[in-house]
Amino acid sequence: MLDLVVNSLYSKKEIFLRELVSNASDAIDRAKYLGLTEKELLSDNPDWAIEIAVDKSAKTMSISDNGIGMDEADLEKNLGTIASSGTKAFRQALKEKGGEALPELIGQFGVGFYAAFMVADRVRVVTKKRGTDAAFMWESDMSGGYTVSDAVRDGFGTTIMLHFREGQEEYLDYWRVADLVKKYSDFIAYPIRYATVGAPADEKDDERKRREEREAKPMNTMVALWKRPKKDVKDEEYAEFYKHLTRDWEAPFETIPFSGEGAVEFKALLFIPSKPTMELYMPQQKRGLSLYVRNVFIGDDIEMLLPPWLRFVKGVVDSSDLPLNVSREMLQDDAIIAKIKAAVTSKILSVLEDVKKKGERYDGFFKSFGTVLKEGVHNDWENAERIKKLLKYPTARQDPGKLVFLEDYVKDMPSGQSDIYYICAERESDARTAPQIEAARKHGCDVLLFCDPVDEYLAPSLGDFDGKKFVDVAKGDVQFGSDAERDAEKKANEKAAGELKGFMEAVKKQLEKDVSDVRVSTRLTDSPCCLVAREYGPSPYMVRMMRAMHQEVPDEKRILELNAAHPLVKKVAALEGDAQADAIAMLYDSALVAEGSPVPDGARFAKLVATLMMK
Ligand code: ADP
Repeated sequence: MLDLVVNSLYSKKEIFLRELVSNASDAIDRAKYLGLTEKELLSDNPDWAIEIAVDKSAKTMSISDNGIGMDEADLEKNLGTIASSGTKAFRQALKEKGGEALPELIGQFGVGFYAAFMVADRVRVVTKKRGTDAAFMWESDMSGGYTVSDAVRDGFGTTIMLHFREGQEEYLDYWRVADLVKKYSDFIAYPIRYATVGAPADEKDDERKRREEREAKPMNTMVALWKRPKKDVKDEEYAEFYKHLTRDWEAPFETIPFSGEGAVEFKALLFIPSKPTMELYMPQQKRGLSLYVRNVFIGDDIEMLLPPWLRFVKGVVDSSDLPLNVSREMLQDDAIIAKIKAAVTSKILSVLEDVKKKGERYDGFFKSFGTVLKEGVHNDWENAERIKKLLKYPTARQDPGKLVFLEDYVKDMPSGQSDIYYICAERESDARTAPQIEAARKHGCDVLLFCDPVDEYLAPSLGDFDGKKFVDVAKGDVQFGSDAERDAEKKANEKAAGELKGFMEAVKKQLEKDVSDVRVSTRLTDSPCCLVAREYGPSPYMVRMMRAMHQEVPDEKRILELNAAHPLVKKVAALEGDAQADAIAMLYDSALVAEGSPVPDGARFAKLVATLMMK
């Protein structure tokens, strides 16, 4: 069993220090708590502290606390068998008593102590329990059990002495220890100090002075910012903590301290950065929140605490409802983690909703993180409706740079418009002037410009908004205006189609390789022609993007739509022979150019233009 713990419980050996320091802190918690009612337990008037004393020549480290201590029976019970956890029993007892002041205790699982054997081949515990006057020693070298004997100890509390294994000497170094304390135990509520046992005889005076200064100071800061009430924390303090946490230079866009109550209790301190950090667009990069369990650091990239579409959020979650020795695999399907994630998600959404209400600042946020946020519509059906209300888009009617919320788009829809129109393009300027949106605009309908690389991909997930469907104006059949207008248009189109029949057949034959059909358009006013995709076909931009990502995309022929009322169409229809063929080729190429697509043969296009200019 011990083998199992030593060899597989923790991936990082350095964690032994976290466990032992946590136990020490826990023992002080208990002493403090019991001292509330049994004053005589604190008759020595203790100055609560944890000391890490290192003897380099003996290769030992002693972690001492002046907490509750253990008697003979405690030693047998707590350290004699793995997983018999005194802490657990203690918690149970307190709960039964209904003790409201239940201190936050570390180590529900009863295995932390044994982590010592990951780095030590011998462990000796010398301890004296508060309220008693005999000290005991527990010793084990892992080979065959342990011994308990009488001992001598000055004050109350416990000292755990480790004799390091070969190869674990790094833990004798002050800086390594200080680093570990900072990393895992910075927010332990009692000072953790380092002490040198048997300083080298040849230590120089100034060296000794520097060492003593360093050892007089606690290695931990002892502040759990997220546990302090918001009103007691200055903005600068939050900002400093954020910078420390993220290594960002700028202060955060939004600081979100909050606590979860009810089903799961936790405290969280979350931040929305001001600008995207590099790792945002690198899926394999670490992300997630830092997790603490009862003030003890568990990990700094716990992805399970955030949905992927909130991966720009940084911060800390501290819960006392999780076991200390949680592994990532356990977190993956832990019910408590799932509840924390849901609460964190909802909180961030409500903060964004507030920022949205307040106005301008929102655009700054959205420009930085809107692309990531949009993924939520696709991936998180539970929150999709809330997320949609947070999305903004440029539109054909707005000035460049201005974005509108979907609800504002809907509010401005003319009567008779029942769908939400959008067009996809690589560049906003191309979308803005695309021939495909002409008729929509003529009928007073605004068009959302989907120019973010994720927009087209996500469009099918948008479903509807406020009961209105999203319709791509460059796909399928779209018609605008009232029923009467549509009818009239249909009739006119049929008539034009009859008149242009021969010409359309010629166009179809000539462009056979490029287009699937030729028809009279309902979406053009000023342009002579445009290309439209099947209702469920990908746009040319999407096809280019997919090919750039080395995906197989079959050639998708689109439909060439002609504006029957356009004088140019009439003129080309009246031409004959080579002159008509050149003009048809140019019509097709210019439809591509107008929507921002490349022409298939640039040299031929240039030559046609040149010939035309000569004429
Ligand atoms: P856990 O702390 O998760 O219960 P451990 O294996 O770390 O499991 O410790 C087992 C038990 O030993 C603890 O529950 C506690 O009762 C006791 N113990 C460990 N370290 C100390 C200490 N420094 N002072 C007092 N009791 C301790």
